[in-house]
Amino acid sequence: CGIVGAVSTRNIVPILVQGLQRLEYRGYDSCGVAVHSASLGAKQGGLQRARSTARVSELMDQVKADHIEGGIGIAHTRWATHGAPAVHNAHPHFSHGTGAGAGVYTGDVPNKAGQNEKATPNKPGRVALVHNGIIENHDELRAALQAKGYEFLSQTDTEVIAHLVDSLYNGDLFEAVKAAIVQLHGAYAIAVFHKDEPHRVIGARAGSPLILGVGKEHSETFLASDAMALAGVTDQIVYLEEGDVVDIQIGKYWVQDRNHKAVTREVKTVQAHS
Ligand code: GLU
Repeated sequence: CGIVGAVSTRNIVPILVQGLQRLEYRGYDSCGVAVHSASLGAKQGGLQRARSTARVSELMDQVKADHIEGGIGIAHTRWATHGAPAVHNAHPHFSHGTGAGAGVYTGDVPNKAGQNEKATPNKPGRVALVHNGIIENHDELRAALQAKGYEFLSQTDTEVIAHLVDSLYNGDLFEAVKAAIVQLHGAYAIAVFHKDEPHRVIGARAGSPLILGVGKEHSETFLASDAMALAGVTDQIVYLEEGDVVDIQIGKYWVQDRNHKAVTREVKTVQAHS
């Protein structure tokens, strides 16, 4: 339903959650945010996540209570299509690393209203991913990934993409995402980051909208499903085209079109919404 992603030199969690609040009017059944704590120079960096079936304002209380902070992150409001509205089906979804030092994972902590729970076993996350849309061939992809040993903790079509990207990762998330999306049938806008690359978020779109925002301060770069999510943060917007894949980093970004050709997309100044 709604996506916000960012790479910044400051803690980006408040901007991500405010972005979700600006998209709330579209409706949602759950929400969540994930960050890479190492991006702010944390000694022991890793993926942190909070998810909830309560309102976005309660997600904000939860991230404050859990001290979830990072310079790169992704956030989502979900409108369930595959899998019931529940914390374990809420995005961001993680793929699960094996082996030592795979990352710090805080789990999903109960909130005041009791609408959250420790829904997920305490496994370190490797790839964090949010998705709008529907993946039609999720069953066959899930079966192939299960055969490779991937364990599924949700009933969503989205978790398939997280594991698929993980399975294709060879040190460069941009390449892994490009290799993954050619296997996807359906509609998607995605935003993804990886525990080993705490400096970039990768986005891709086909059939669902995704925009890029060029930040005005803190060398920030953003992704969102709608420019409205970034109102008050930046009005410098690039409308990504069908099939585009984008790499956002501190103060810079790259776009490739569906033919894997580097392209320059026009930056437009959009009317600020209140
Ligand atoms: N199909 C995905 C799910 O059910 C994404 C739904 C959405 O666009 O919010 O989790």
